Amino acid sequence: MNEMSGNGSESEVLPVQMGYESKFKFKCHKGVECFTKCCRGIDIMLTPYDILTMRKRLDLTSEQFLSIYTDLHLLESADLPVVTLKLLDDERKSCPFVQDEEGCLIYEDRPSTCRYYPLGMGSLSYTSDQEAGEDDDAFFFTVKEEHCLGFEEDEQWTVAQWREDQGVDIRDEVNAGWTNLIVRKKSVPKTIKLSEQSKQMFFLACYNIDKFRKFIFESTFLKRYKVDPKVVEEIRTDDIKLLQFGFEWLKATFFKDGEIMQPGQPPRPPQK
Ligand code: SF4
Ligand code: SF4
Repeated sequence: MNEMSGNGSESEVLPVQMGYESKFKFKCHKGVECFTKCCRGIDIMLTPYDILTMRKRLDLTSEQFLSIYTDLHLLESADLPVVTLKLLDDERKSCPFVQDEEGCLIYEDRPSTCRYYPLGMGSLSYTSDQEAGEDDDAFFFTVKEEHCLGFEEDEQWTVAQWREDQGVDIRDEVNAGWTNLIVRKKSVPKTIKLSEQSKQMFFLACYNIDKFRKFIFESTFLKRYKVDPKVVEEIRTDDIKLLQFGFEWLKATFFKDGEIMQPGQPPRPPQK
């Protein structure tokens, strides 16, 4: 099991496309000279499920977590907002959760990017198969940073074994709706722009999950959208179901696609 992982902003991305059965050698443990080096000067995009689990671990609301631990960016290729982990303002630009001796203080709840390392994941384009949960279009590659000595160790993995060992396959399943929204939006001609209101909706449903729940239950949302009563009860308390409901709602709103609800006049996002 990998003890510590991260992703570097100055990574050398090897141009080798890998599939689930492709093999690579890697091992990370406290004994490596580079231990925790990968957790400084990094650029980690957080997924919706990362935020959900990290805010729970830190006993914060999603709004508090976003304000303390994240930076907001616009993913230009998709024209959608994304968030990255905010680094400390120290000399090494450290991750707020890294300790020299101990490594990652939130190891069990570390983000997907940290789990994937030394692999990166990409998708060639949006296909209708992705709606059905298939990710055949996905590919992987190794991210080899100069300081990382894990590649010199002798443990061999397939991509599929690594994903299972690091718990990323389960996370990818939860995040699939979010990934599909981004990949699908990238496939839309650049001239078709989302309104600021739609981008706020995306941010709310994907990242500020606690506020999204309030929005659903304390606004006119449930009057404007006819949602299955069983789903309403599920999303009242289940964070993962709420995330996935949000992805479906965004898909229906952005692409007029899906049958999760009967849309009426789209509600306005809550004011900050
Ligand atoms: S081996 Fe690589 S992933 Fe592990 S601590 Fe060193 S730099 Fe980080
Ligand atoms: S969250 Fe943990 S594994 Fe990821 S960069 Fe920070 S300390 Fe490293």
